[in-house]
Amino acid sequence: MLYSTQTFLVAGLSRSGIAASEFLLSRGARVYCFDDVEEGAVAATAASLAAKGCTVIHKEELEQRAAECDILVLSPGIPVDHPLPVSFRRAGKRILGEMELGALALRAPAVAVTGTNGKTTTVTMLDGIFKAAGKKSVACGNIGRPLSSCVDELGEDGLAVVEVSSFQLETLSSLRPHVAVVLNVTEDHLNRHYNMDNYVYLKSRILKNCAESEYAVLNHDDPITRSFAEKTKAKAVWFSLREPVDGGYLSDGCFCFRGEKLFPVPELPLDGDHNAANALAAICAAKIMGVKSETIVSALKTFRGVAHRLQRIGEIGGVTFIDDSKATNVDSAIKAVGSVKGESVLLVGGKDKGYSYEPLFDAVRNSGVVHCVIYGENAFRILNAALKKGFTAVTLCRPFDVAVRVAYLTAKPGQNLLLSPASASFDAFRNYEERGDRFRELMTLLAGEKKPQETAVTEDDSFAE
Ligand code: ADP
Repeated sequence: MLYSTQTFLVAGLSRSGIAASEFLLSRGARVYCFDDVEEGAVAATAASLAAKGCTVIHKEELEQRAAECDILVLSPGIPVDHPLPVSFRRAGKRILGEMELGALALRAPAVAVTGTNGKTTTVTMLDGIFKAAGKKSVACGNIGRPLSSCVDELGEDGLAVVEVSSFQLETLSSLRPHVAVVLNVTEDHLNRHYNMDNYVYLKSRILKNCAESEYAVLNHDDPITRSFAEKTKAKAVWFSLREPVDGGYLSDGCFCFRGEKLFPVPELPLDGDHNAANALAAICAAKIMGVKSETIVSALKTFRGVAHRLQRIGEIGGVTFIDDSKATNVDSAIKAVGSVKGESVLLVGGKDKGYSYEPLFDAVRNSGVVHCVIYGENAFRILNAALKKGFTAVTLCRPFDVAVRVAYLTAKPGQNLLLSPASASFDAFRNYEERGDRFRELMTLLAGEKKPQETAVTEDDSFAE
């Protein structure tokens, strides 16, 4: 792309908008930038971009200045049917995302990972494996570091391990991964993508540029990802928890790849079948990239997990706190209640994304969950689902802080307090990290207090005098 002759409008000034603006400035483009929010941290970002050479556009001049631009760089946080992209489309102008800018400039090979759940875990596993194999690997994309900010560092000899979300797939057309991994597709983000067909189509786009010489690592146990093999020219390499497929599978309690036994499943330091599936996907991608088995095995055996994903953060009064704040949809919460051992009090709720919570309570009824504390904006929808499924051990308690306290008071020593919300966090927090961090803070606060029943025991003792 000839950047220096074009004027770009970068819309949305979060991490990807900053990276896109800096990338474009470094290529000599003229860059306008805009965000609906004009205060606080965004104002500071806008000022710093202005100092680097961007023209900051204010709301009242948006229409007029947008007309001067050739290309819109849209933040993944802004839907493609927002009036701004619609106006660009009507004018016949191009719309792309920050990741597309990165993909257009990328010279290193890429391993790309998408799916509803498990992307960050799998990308982190793969990055660890590739680094252990001595490759110049960079984990980037939706995981945190924007792709466009890594392309120069990656050069030709690096390896981009790119996490790709459905929001990014809306404005991504040029990424051509050598290995594309699709972990699973279950209901999520229906408030943004309207229906499952659209969401499934977006996920399949990760494979659209792959040629016969490339690879699609697909989950054989998921009918949607299984069907993707017919939609791509790439060679399918399967993974399955259920059967010995051509690729990664389990046999005699061990992870295996095409007839080779790698290591026993319990030696993966993460709980849950879903994490075994993530490990199988990582094994397939690493094997395709030529990594030796012993390197894969030692990297996976020492994998430390990722914060806010089924993370044991502490124990107070005999109650184990588990932070699974990143469980922002029903399937991930189902996996959590299915994999946490022993009895748990489940904290669930937040911002609704337009799907049914009933499958969660089917899973809850067959799990060690003894009580649910339901909080947040969608509390009544969740309560309704629980009652419809006949799960009545529930307490409804809207504010998060109160809900955590109530859940702690409800839990008995030996039980877990599992935060696995099945919902986004945006009703009360900036993101899931802030929600998980607040959970940890509340744990620390509660650690400094005595549980009321402990006080009651003391009173009983004094009664006995
Ligand atoms: P993503 O990046 O796709 O959101 P993460 O690895 O961050 O995935 O995990 C998000 C949530 O999904 C966590 O609660 C985690 O325990 C759960 N999870 C991880 N892998 C899977 C999987 N393969 N299937 C279902 N849930 C998963």
